[in-house]
Amino acid sequence: MPTVPLDPPTAYGLAALLVVLGRRLVEAGRGARAFRAALAFSIFFALSVQPFLFRWPDWMYAYLVPAEDFPPQRAAVPFFLAVAGAGAMGAWVALQLLRAGRARWALAHALGGIALWLAIWAATWDAYFHVGTRAEWLAGLAPPLAEVPDFRTAMNLAGAAQGAVGIGLAAWVLLAGRRAARLARIQPDPAPDWRRVLGPVAKVQSGAAVRVARARAAQAAWAALPVRVRARALRRLRRRFLAAADEFVAILEEENGRPAAESWIAEIVPNADLFDHWARRGPALLQAEPVPIDPLTFPGKSAVVERLPRGVVGLITPWNFPVALPLRTIVPALLAGNAIAWKPSEHAARSAARLHAILAAELPPDLVALVEGGPEAGRALIDAGVDHLVFVGSTAAGRAVAEAAGRALTSVSLELGGKDAALVLHDADLERTADGVIWAAFANAGQNCAAIERCYVDARVAAPFAELLRTRIAALRQGEDVGPITTAAQHARVRAQLAEAGVEPQGGGRFVRPVLLVDPPADLSLLDEETFGPVLPLFSCATEEEMVRRANAAPFGLTASVWSRDRARAEAIGRRLQAGVVTINAHAFTGALPQVPWSGVRASGFGVTNGDRALDALTRPRLVLVDRGNVRRELFWYPYDASQVQLGRAMARLRAGRIGAIPALVRAFVAARRRAVPATPARWGDGAVQPRLRPIEGGAGRARARPAEVERQAIDGGDR
Ligand code: NAD
Repeated sequence: MPTVPLDPPTAYGLAALLVVLGRRLVEAGRGARAFRAALAFSIFFALSVQPFLFRWPDWMYAYLVPAEDFPPQRAAVPFFLAVAGAGAMGAWVALQLLRAGRARWALAHALGGIALWLAIWAATWDAYFHVGTRAEWLAGLAPPLAEVPDFRTAMNLAGAAQGAVGIGLAAWVLLAGRRAARLARIQPDPAPDWRRVLGPVAKVQSGAAVRVARARAAQAAWAALPVRVRARALRRLRRRFLAAADEFVAILEEENGRPAAESWIAEIVPNADLFDHWARRGPALLQAEPVPIDPLTFPGKSAVVERLPRGVVGLITPWNFPVALPLRTIVPALLAGNAIAWKPSEHAARSAARLHAILAAELPPDLVALVEGGPEAGRALIDAGVDHLVFVGSTAAGRAVAEAAGRALTSVSLELGGKDAALVLHDADLERTADGVIWAAFANAGQNCAAIERCYVDARVAAPFAELLRTRIAALRQGEDVGPITTAAQHARVRAQLAEAGVEPQGGGRFVRPVLLVDPPADLSLLDEETFGPVLPLFSCATEEEMVRRANAAPFGLTASVWSRDRARAEAIGRRLQAGVVTINAHAFTGALPQVPWSGVRASGFGVTNGDRALDALTRPRLVLVDRGNVRRELFWYPYDASQVQLGRAMARLRAGRIGAIPALVRAFVAARRRAVPATPARWGDGAVQPRLRPIEGGAGRARARPAEVERQAIDGGDR
């Protein structure tokens, strides 16, 4: 039977096994570490077999081809890559299986790799234990291994090194996994009623208050589950959500008049990614983080910062993206161990009820409370005393919500309105830019917080660009491309802004045909009030400076874009725009990326959804510091004496970069360590000690500034 080299399958099986041993690392979201350990083993293994290739090429080639056809110099690199690559592949497959929650498959796969190696070994046993060419071996002339002493020694050395590295890495992977699992364990709050000490916030037991109380009761058990169990629930929710996708698209069409294509692009596909993103990335982000503490100043101490759930996260959402917007908060908040009390828009009640039903079917009862109704239900939710509030909606309502949350001492994230600007530079690809601007201005009939509501174009290309926009607007179809305005109040607002600009809107019912306003007067309310409809004002500007100034002049700052072929210049201009999201040659779509932050400035609010930082609002940090207690008395504890003053001064000097302070530091350190509690009782109240207080010079409440020289001496002090 023809023989094949053993090393690639060996590396494959062993690397896969190493990753399987790192299962806890993977479950704690640190799978990359297990993979790196397996990769390190594969590389070491591949290197450790190289000497054999050069020293006993005949033997190595007994499996393959005659050595003279393929000299070691040429074979070394491909052989190395084959072995290390096989290890990397085995580790990668095992990692993917573990990440998908298929631990048994991952183990079976690793054992399968090892079994393959053993099977090949068994089949090639005889050739493997003889040193010689294939022809010699076939002719029975190759000496057995045992008769080639230096070969035996090399084999033993390589085997021992491989074993030591493999066992060492396996031990590391196991220990790191144990540690990661311990750190990943988030403690629930000690009691479900911990917030009650702030006093009963709701005077009347409203429906919202009852639901919040139930959600709070459900939260403790949810938070006590390991984060990987919660991540698994998110994956199941994802499956349910996708199974109901067609239904959602139909509801959105009926409820908002949303074109189906838009619903798939904006409400369904990004949410599948959202569930996936948090289930994959969340566990690592939620882990407690060890914090280094200077062992000289604070010996014997170790600390971790944990991320705890807030408790019940209140969520109030608008109607314009009734599925995507709530999920952006609900998914990470649940993963972090929170309960949710969600007040959806009264104009998106059906889609909200359907989404809630999906959540409720998969999650513990009451964990996600649905509070239905208009603004009054939102107010009741805040009064019910949630532990953090995420509000997405208009700036006016956001102000009222922030006031109410302030009264209830509830932290709040605000995601408010926008008046986004797009800047079109003279060297932009005008055709592409026109397509992009039209979509970003009119998708969802302009009812998008990140819709382009102002477009500033370089005067040199203003005329052809306006012409391109006009042609594209003329081609937009009622209902198919641009849906209706969802609410009557919003329809009236858009009409009023257009009337002020002297435009009679076209389109029946709630439809408004997209409007381009070229260089409208500067005093129109649509220039600094949100329109939230299909209206695009276009302004020609003489300079880029003017574009930036006018873009920054509106009170909002959600997203902004710059369009140009010169990407570096566009980036430089983009960085001058006051907005939470800046895009170059694109606009408004980044809300669909779960991995990047979405936030605003000024009247657009200050909350962050999506991206790692979204967890900052949905969790609270808790520091746990453990002192091993092996220092008898801390340097900074009583009794105070001169040694501490000297120590403090020397430390300050060292921190100011004065290495000469080290001897004084050591002396003071030793003296401070030797301090003893005075044997005689201290005297009090006999006037022996007078306070050294002095009235502040230069008037009440104003200390006289100390010259810099005096400050410097205070640090340099004593040792001069
Ligand atoms: P809205 O402010 O009228 O209502 C939003 C939600 O808040 C609704 O559920 C409403 O019932 C509730 N609400 C209103 N007043 C309240 C109060 N005083 N107390 C408690 N709850 C209250 O907004 P809308 O018309 O539904 O949505 C459109 C607005 O949302 C636009 O301004 C848009 O820019 C903004 N928005 C912002 C973002 C973002 O990410 N920044 C995303 C989407 C929409």
